[in-house]
Amino acid sequence: MILDLRPIFTSETAVMPLDYALSFSDFEFSGTCPVIFPVRVQGEIRREAELTVLSADIIYDYSAPCDRCASPIVKEITESVYHVLADRPDGGEETEETVLLDDMRLDLDEMVRTDLILSLPTKFVCSEDCRGLCPLCGKNLNEGECGCNNGAKDIRLEKLKELLDR
Ligand SMILES: [Zn+2]
Ligand SMILES: [Zn+2]
Repeated sequence: MILDLRPIFTSETAVMPLDYALSFSDFEFSGTCPVIFPVRVQGEIRREAELTVLSADIIYDYSAPCDRCASPIVKEITESVYHVLADRPDGGEETEETVLLDDMRLDLDEMVRTDLILSLPTKFVCSEDCRGLCPLCGKNLNEGECGCNNGAKDIRLEKLKELLDR
């Protein structure tokens, strides 16, 4: 989707609300796509102290197995983004937040795609205290003890206690 920002660049006070749902048919992530489309973009573009800025939330559902217990989970992820929109390189003031426009037009898909990749979770667990799988029998320890790993676990804990007591 291409947004024509000419109205906002030629006005001092204009605000342009953003509320879009985007899909990328060619979006892949290690062969599978954990992002459930469409991705929603909600926010606004406005003139602010001589700058044109975009602030928005990128909201999507992410579906992947838990890193520890492998249960399939879906979580809603909200990534807040802020960009300065510049119609041409002006020499200074350019930061990684800057998005360069092509003839006052913003390629919203391209911007969201880049922000989306940066926002993908590197750690994905069903809950912070997920206990994962037993390394011996593979039982999901969130569902209860399996019994076979207790000995090994105690030895590790004892070792840790020794270290901490020093
Ligand atoms: Zn888990
Ligand atoms: Zn076990």
